[in-house]
Amino acid sequence: MMTNHSLTSRDRAVLWHPCTQMKDHETFPIIPIKKAQGVWLEDFEGRRYLDAISSWWVNLFGHAHPAINAALKDQLDTLEQVIFAGFTHEPAVNLAERLLSLTPAGLSRCFFADNGSAAVEVALKMSFHYWKNTGQPQKTRFITLENSYHGETLGALAVGDVALYKDTYSPLLMEVLTVPGPDCYFREPGESWADYSTRRFALMEQTLEAHANSVCAVIIEPLVQCAGYMRMYDPVYLSLLRAACDKYQVHLIADEIAVGFGRTGTLFACEQAAVSPDFMCLSKGLTGGYLPLSAVLTTDKVYQAFYDDYHKLTAFLHSHSYTGNALACRAGLATLDIFQQQPILENNQQLARLMAIAAARFIEHPHVAEVRQTGLIVAIELVKNKRSREPFPWQERRGLKVYQYALAKGVLLRPLGNVIYFMPPYVITAEELSVIATVAWDGIEWAVNG
Ligand SMILES: *Cc1c(COP(=O)(O)O)cnc(C)c1O
Repeated sequence: MMTNHSLTSRDRAVLWHPCTQMKDHETFPIIPIKKAQGVWLEDFEGRRYLDAISSWWVNLFGHAHPAINAALKDQLDTLEQVIFAGFTHEPAVNLAERLLSLTPAGLSRCFFADNGSAAVEVALKMSFHYWKNTGQPQKTRFITLENSYHGETLGALAVGDVALYKDTYSPLLMEVLTVPGPDCYFREPGESWADYSTRRFALMEQTLEAHANSVCAVIIEPLVQCAGYMRMYDPVYLSLLRAACDKYQVHLIADEIAVGFGRTGTLFACEQAAVSPDFMCLSKGLTGGYLPLSAVLTTDKVYQAFYDDYHKLTAFLHSHSYTGNALACRAGLATLDIFQQQPILENNQQLARLMAIAAARFIEHPHVAEVRQTGLIVAIELVKNKRSREPFPWQERRGLKVYQYALAKGVLLRPLGNVIYFMPPYVITAEELSVIATVAWDGIEWAVNG
């Protein structure tokens, strides 16, 4: 019989977990999960945890969803995986067709990869390669925003700007142009999100004007910089950026890996600015949180720049072994079916209102500098000094204390530094939301006074 303890001790002997100082687990044990259902995770002793962060932002409709489970069981008996160079299959074709019909106009080609970072690598390589194929090989650089995050592989890390993940590896990374961002946490008192985002766009415009000739693309997370402490900005920034990218002949790469599939209120965040990027990266919610899969959608113009006789050597010779995995594509189709069959986006508007209500009182807390929300993401910024916004020293790990407190109360909240956020599966109830809010409040009390 497996127990919590037997599994965690075997884990400690052989495993190395992501984004973790493993020594922390000497004092703070890892959580063993036996099974999950809906928004609940359960360990081997029947202890339950409310998944308030959608299992690292991937889960949309809860764990063990009956329709996704049924689709996968059916697919398993038909085709699990086949080489995707020279071969194709129904789930991949269906999923590509449906993604292209749902994403902004102008995107007409789908390239599959198997995780978010890989999709970012694909988009960066495709953009560079497009300019090379079209006679502009001097375009070799990328513009990225301050505080952005695009994944952990070396190319994706290079175009990100979260120091904690990036600084160690800086000798290995390509140089990028990093532009001060539109993060509205820094707007002046009384200044609107739109005004601040517009004002900050001037810095992007200057960089584009100065460097367009050597730049392939601007890569951006539309509306919310999720890993960058859930910082948010106004859609106007995306509209201005689309226009400027056209003006200066630079691609726009929209990394919707975290914000796609309804998270910001619209199916894709770009819709809120009515923009269509040259490349859109999707992953995370793409399979409802079931299986690793990613997609890069692009335009016919980009596609045509690679389409030629073989001996011209213009092809995009990039691959991953599990590209277009059939099971993962089928999970993606089952996820899109749920969006099609139920009024998810309408229901999510109501859920966003409930989240706003649940989070409203936090702004009165003496250690909360800001409560911000975009769609189904609410973030609470903990600070040492509310008036000056002086942060808690990072060494004090106040956010971690909230995490530990919440786990003890049966809620999975995994803060980013000192930012506590709620990013639940779309099937969470009002009662469950109020449990999360109560536990978060008490956890903050415990963390700031301890
Ligand atoms: C998670 C994330 C990635 C990386 O995806 P992985 O599947 O973890 O490699 C890239 N961009 C954004 C915006 C993300 O949130």
